Amino acid sequence: MSLPLFRFEHLSQVPGVVHGVSTRVGGVSEGRCESLNVSYSVGDVAENVDENLHRVATSVGGRRKDLFGACQVHGREVTVVTDESDGRPKCDVLITRSRAKTLMLRYADCTPVLLADPVQKAIGVVHAGWRGSAVRAAEAAVVAMRDEFGSNPGDLVAGIGPAIGPCCYTVGEDVRTAFADRPQLFAEGRLDLWEANRLALIDAGVPADQIEVAGICTQCNADTFFSHRANGGQPAGRFAAVIRLQC
Ligand SMILES: [Zn+2]
Repeated sequence: MSLPLFRFEHLSQVPGVVHGVSTRVGGVSEGRCESLNVSYSVGDVAENVDENLHRVATSVGGRRKDLFGACQVHGREVTVVTDESDGRPKCDVLITRSRAKTLMLRYADCTPVLLADPVQKAIGVVHAGWRGSAVRAAEAAVVAMRDEFGSNPGDLVAGIGPAIGPCCYTVGEDVRTAFADRPQLFAEGRLDLWEANRLALIDAGVPADQIEVAGICTQCNADTFFSHRANGGQPAGRFAAVIRLQC
């Protein structure tokens, strides 16, 4: 079956790269995880998550066993994924030139950032909530692609996916302190994570016209995307951002 996926226009035009951001639609989970939850750590039934992951993998032409995820820790550590990579590293940035793996990270309000280098044939994915955005995880991805694959940041095509938006993301003093160097990201006590990641990419050398911002707020669209904030304290399900290189 084909799942409804959010896809970026620019990334869709990069030859040999397939990507997508899953929604809540098209899975088998029930209750607050209805229906396409991709996380085993939010109290969902494991068999349902297995099936959901299978559907997400095949929706981008991959296989369940080739999905490569991470134990996300809200930092800027990078894992370089190879054909042989195994397990679940503690990190929030995955980059690869392997055609054997589909990179996948999980979200419920945090910002997905997808990257593709059409020249060096390399890809990356970033998970950036406020902590990851504060430490510029997206910049870490660009730097790592340059160092590991010889990517010129000026060649990179980037997408900033559905995440809690500046319409909804009211934050406290701890978050304001973490962004003390970027006061322009705040308006009326709300933080703009989309813009934080866009600026991190630009600072790293990615041309502004090669960065596409989905502009979709997960809390405003909690029927379509899992949202931690919209879930009233209960653990939210997770949606996935996936990207792979075609064989
Ligand atoms: Zn909103």
